[in-house]
Amino acid sequence: MTEYKMTDKYRKVLTEMIGECWHEFPDYGSQKEYKYIGCPHTCLKCKKGHNLCIITNRTFTADEDIMKVFRWLVDNGKFEILCESEIIREHYMNDTHDNKYLIAWLIYDAKRFCCLVAMAKLEGVI
Ligand SMILES: [Zn+2]
Repeated sequence: MTEYKMTDKYRKVLTEMIGECWHEFPDYGSQKEYKYIGCPHTCLKCKKGHNLCIITNRTFTADEDIMKVFRWLVDNGKFEILCESEIIREHYMNDTHDNKYLIAWLIYDAKRFCCLVAMAKLEGVI
């Protein structure tokens, strides 16, 4: 069974795909503990203030994220393309032990789904 790991690269490509800002902040150098720097901080891209102690970019490991990605795929005519793509078929064939119908298998696990969509996006499939 393939291990699906959500990376910052995947999170960024998915965030920008669904039209949201992948927030970036000034480089605080070695001061990685944002709570010691004070809040709020302004995103360099969208210029919105964020409390870095609390708000981070989307994780794409939650059910809420899967629906956001799923709806974007449907609204942009990409869901069928994704389902019929080589990358999805290959992962599905390697993971058929759970015996679900392809689409059920695809969207059943939020992290797996989002990782596969990110892979497809980075490979230019969708
Ligand atoms: Zn931003």
